[in-house]
Amino acid sequence: MKKVLTTCGYCGCGCNLYLTVEGGRITGVLPKPDHPVSQGMLCSKGWQGHGFARHPDRLDQPLLRQEDGTLKGVSWSEAYRAIAEHLRSVIRTHGPDKFAMLASARCTNEENYLAAKLTRAVIGSPNIDHCAPVWLQRSGPGRPPTALRKSASPTPSS
Ligand code: SF4
Repeated sequence: MKKVLTTCGYCGCGCNLYLTVEGGRITGVLPKPDHPVSQGMLCSKGWQGHGFARHPDRLDQPLLRQEDGTLKGVSWSEAYRAIAEHLRSVIRTHGPDKFAMLASARCTNEENYLAAKLTRAVIGSPNIDHCAPVWLQRSGPGRPPTALRKSASPTPSS
């Protein structure tokens, strides 16, 4: 069994964990005992949130909508080019304040910082918001961020 150190992607707390990997597949999670944030504990999302990685519906490449309304798989460079062209066109035609960024509680602090810089300093729009007020209210009562727990064994493969 291989252990891969990573940062939990489920909220901005930044808990560290090890993904346990067998045969190229994620089989479970182990907390990092000496991490300054998580201190060997994870909440239920950290323990169980890896299932999406092997879900059959998970997208494995960008999809670009075509003129006939269908979606076509494209490369990342093609997708980024299309996004940049569309954003330039919107900003040129309607002004930078017609651009809005919706960041995410599932991004790291560094990613959210970059989202704010891109929106305010590069594009020149004041419109940036974050899903935390909605997302954390919904998941908060059942899954408070302080509901961390320790376990000696990795989560079972689902
Ligand atoms: S509090 Fe839970 S969801 Fe947030 S980073 Fe830690 S384990 Fe992940």
